[in-house]
Amino acid sequence: MEKTSPCILRERPKEIETDIAELDQPEAAKRMILLHSCCGPCSTACIERLLPDFKITVFYYNPNITDREEYEKRKANQIKFIEALNGGLPEEDQVVFIEGEYLPEDFFDVAMGLEDRPEGGERCTECFKLRLDRTARAALVMGYPIFGTTLTVSPHKNYQLISAIGTELGDIYGLEFLDMDFKKKAGFQRSIELSKKYGLYRQNYCGCEFSKWEDKK
Ligand code: SF4
Repeated sequence: MEKTSPCILRERPKEIETDIAELDQPEAAKRMILLHSCCGPCSTACIERLLPDFKITVFYYNPNITDREEYEKRKANQIKFIEALNGGLPEEDQVVFIEGEYLPEDFFDVAMGLEDRPEGGERCTECFKLRLDRTARAALVMGYPIFGTTLTVSPHKNYQLISAIGTELGDIYGLEFLDMDFKKKAGFQRSIELSKKYGLYRQNYCGCEFSKWEDKK
């Protein structure tokens, strides 16, 4: 993926214009969604909830996981869950995995000057903007009319903030943002159950080195 400015764009970039109307999506078919995922455990309950209505592509884009070893460990567990799930799904419902570009420097750019802010503060706002912006761009380039994120399944993530960022990006790029608070209907508890069932590694910190010792996730 092309390296671009980490800030949210105010206009839809001309070079990634896509004619979404040309997409061949029969009325009865499930809608295609590009679902940003922060990790395998968080994705479990979100994917389970979306499967009846959507054809899901998971977009693992997380330059905020600044430790490469940790990044790869979470990625491996994301793939492990998708492969196990796909084993029991019909061909047409299979979940697809896509990895975004891993450039921790993009995260450090947006976090600059905010390193000492507590989790949930301005650094996290910029982190959400970065990840959702790149997800929306990828959705536009690849022809997905809808994008969303698993981030709202965590009780430590501000749903209203994520909703506002996603909705604004949807307006900018001409896409639909799946505005869903996955933690509702016991979504977080379900993600813990499913993570145990599929034997997934559950990290004990959010992702960036600044959150490493907060031990909250
Ligand atoms: S604590 Fe989590 S959401 Fe906040 S900046 Fe770090 S990785 Fe991003």
